[in-house]
This record gives sequence, C-alpha cells and structure tokens, in this order.
Amino acid sequence: MLAEIIAVGSEMLTPHRQDTNSLYLTSGLNDLGVAVAFKTIVGDNRQHLASAIRIALSRADILILSGGLGPTEDDLTRECLAEVLNLSLDPDPALLESLRQRFAARSMSMPPNNARQAEVLTGATVLPNANGSAPGQWLETTFPISGTAQRRIVILLPGPPKELKPLFDAECKPRLAASLPQNHLARRILRMALIPESQVDARTAPIYLQFPDVETTILAGHAEIQLHFLCIKPTLDEAQSRVDAVAALVSAEMSGHIFSTNGDSLEQVVLAALAARNQTLSLAESCTGGWLGERLTSVPNASRVFLGGVIAYTNSSKTLLADVPASILEAHGAVSEPSARALAEGIRRRTASTLALSITGIAGPAIPSGPDSTKPIGLVYIALADPHNTVVKQLNIAGDRDRIRLWSTQHALETLRQHLSQ
Ligand code: ATP
Ligand code: MG
Repeated sequence: MLAEIIAVGSEMLTPHRQDTNSLYLTSGLNDLGVAVAFKTIVGDNRQHLASAIRIALSRADILILSGGLGPTEDDLTRECLAEVLNLSLDPDPALLESLRQRFAARSMSMPPNNARQAEVLTGATVLPNANGSAPGQWLETTFPISGTAQRRIVILLPGPPKELKPLFDAECKPRLAASLPQNHLARRILRMALIPESQVDARTAPIYLQFPDVETTILAGHAEIQLHFLCIKPTLDEAQSRVDAVAALVSAEMSGHIFSTNGDSLEQVVLAALAARNQTLSLAESCTGGWLGERLTSVPNASRVFLGGVIAYTNSSKTLLADVPASILEAHGAVSEPSARALAEGIRRRTASTLALSITGIAGPAIPSGPDSTKPIGLVYIALADPHNTVVKQLNIAGDRDRIRLWSTQHALETLRQHLSQ
C-alpha cells in the first residue's frame, strides 16, 4: 500500500510558508503501516492541481489532499477531483444547513460563496470538521490504469493544521485501519558521532542489503550519522524482529561508534551514563560560548549530574573563572594543550565535580592576536579531567565558524562518552 500527499496552496511555493501537514499525515500513515511514496506541493491553479491529482492517482493507492477546501474562487480541490474522476459535485442539504447555523450562531448571514463548502463528490462521505467550516471528504473510488480499474482511497482535508490534525485522527485513521490489510511498521534508529557517511555506508551496506524487506536510510548531518531501519509486516512481531536483526548485525560491525540504538541523543546518553555511575560534570567553554552547556541542559533533569560551568572567553576570564595561570596563557596561548588542561582541571576543582570538560579553539574567520596568531583556523583542544588524570585531544576541524563550534561540542561529548563506556 502506497500513499501520496498533495499539499494545495500557492503560499507553500514561496519561501514564506512551509508544508507541515504532510509531516503529520506521514507519521499517522506510518503508524498504520502505510509508507508515503510521494509528496507534491501544488499552487492554487486548476490545470496544475488536476495534473498533480492525475499523476498521484496513477501511482498511489491512497491519496490525501490538504487545503483548498475554503469558500473562495482559488479553493479548487473539490472541483479538480470532480473533473479528474468524472464525478459530480452536489450540495449536501444537511451540510448547507449546518454551515448556515455556524454563521447564524455568530449573528451573520452566510455569504453565497460559502455554499461551495457544502458540495460533496458523488459517493463521498462527509467528515465533520469540529474546528472550522470546511468539512473533509472520504471517497473510495477507482482509477483506470491501462484499461484496468484500480481501487483508490481519496481523502480531502482542510489546510489549517488545527483543523486537519484532529480531523485526520478522529475520522481518517479508524477508516484507514478498517479498510487496509492489517499491517504494522517497526523502526530502529542507530546513531553514530564523528564518522564519515561514506565509511558507514561502505561497512554497513553489505549487511543491510541482505534485508530487502527493510528500508534503510542513512541520514548525515549535525556531526552525526543516523541509520534508520523501517519494516512493514502483517504483525508487529515480524516487523520488529526484522529491524532488530539488521540493527544487531550493523551494531556489531560499527560497535564503538554507535552511541544510541533507540534514538536517544548523544547528550542524553552521556547524562544517563554519568547518572548510572553517580558522577558529576562541569564545563569550561571558550570558542563554543556555552553551546555544550546548552546541549546538556536541553535534556530535562540534567541537573542530576551536570553542575554547571563557565564561558571563559577571554584570557583574563580563563584566569578569573577557572584559575588558568596567566603564565600558561602567555607562554602557550589560549588555544594550546596546557591551557585546555588547566581549564578543565581548574573548573573541576572550583565546582568539585567528578569530571570536567574544556574546549578552547580557533573558530575563525578572524585570526586571534598574540601567541595564537600563527595557529590555523579549526585548531581545537578538548580536555577531560577526572580525579586521577587529564586527557587532552588536539583536533583540526574543517569548515566555517558554526561547523567548527558544533563539531567541537560533539567531540567533547563523544570523548566523555568513550571515557564513560570504558
Ligand atoms: P480555509 O477554509 O481556511 O480556506 P482551506 O482548506 O482552503 O481552508 P487553505 O486556504 O489552503 O485551506 O489553507 C489555510 C491555511 O492553512 C493557510 O494559510 C496555511 O497557513 C495553512 N496551511 C495550508 N496548507 C498547509 C500545509 N500543507 N501545511 C501547513 N499549513 C498549511
Ligand atoms: Mg483557503
């Protein structure tokens, strides 16, 4: 079973508005074991919409249209469907009356245009819209492909998300569940930090290609790689066992790199590992300006293990807030192994945390003056201090300022994760 979603509205072909309805619908369809094969965005144009509908009906079993059900001339969804499916649009007397009453309840008389919203495709079921005036419609029909009539489910939904979401949940999901073959979707997500996508693919493709019934997607971005496995089967057990099987093999191949097998973020994983060991953490950040602290504190309850820290941006702050000796900063520069070490050890002493991380680097594009002026952009030192020892990593991170800063926070978290998994 394949679905297509058409989002109708010229505003979504501008840079100002995005189609978000299709994300909600996709998630709901996936819950029912239906994959979305195509999404189309089309403007309020009769020819374009009719052509998008024809194409969708030729290739998908389920077609959901969002938007274009309003009362105005540019709301064309009903008419275009009637044209393509060769159906008539007839006013529904009960619907007309309820529209009139909606207006009467606000002491208004109904403008003639609104009667368009009471027009129903022949054979369609009206889906009441508790939050707006345009009702949805549900139509089971056929569409000829090479002379053979193919079964199609067509669903019309209003555009405003506040109307579409409850209508889809209340009226469409139960109907879809009843008319579809029983299917269940299982998903697993493996997440890895700081590893090139090409390396992940080269090592895992020989494994996941042996699972043709599992759809594998590699997503790269934000200093991490995600592997998504998705499987649809008549029972959840069957689907789950397939995604679990491929995930187990891939996890074994990539062991050490994988920080989460259930979708948890790196910061969640690190905080949970600290909590499991009853250890606490503090930070001294320079070039990342608090980004690492932001990432950690975005997780609820981080205060169980994350004590806090400082943004020690200038040299004098490094001395004032984390006791970095001025002599070290003068001799080696702020971006150096000794400075990173002193930062982590200093903040650890000050906060009395079990562990402390520091980050100091050159994010560019400006080159600093003083002892750091000869160092390259992207040079970053990360230090991790524990009660016995301090390890310092020297990194050379490529890219612009934001990339260098993001990857610095990722390296720091991954260094901590590896330390905690020893
Ligand atoms: P109305 O009766 O309100 O005119 P409609 O079904 O005609 O309903 P549209 O006019 O197409 O819906 O859209 C109404 C509003 O809903 C748009 O201004 C937009 O903000 C929002 N909207 C429409 N489609 C989407 C979408 N796919 N994703 C997110 N928002 C949407
Ligand atoms: Mg409209």
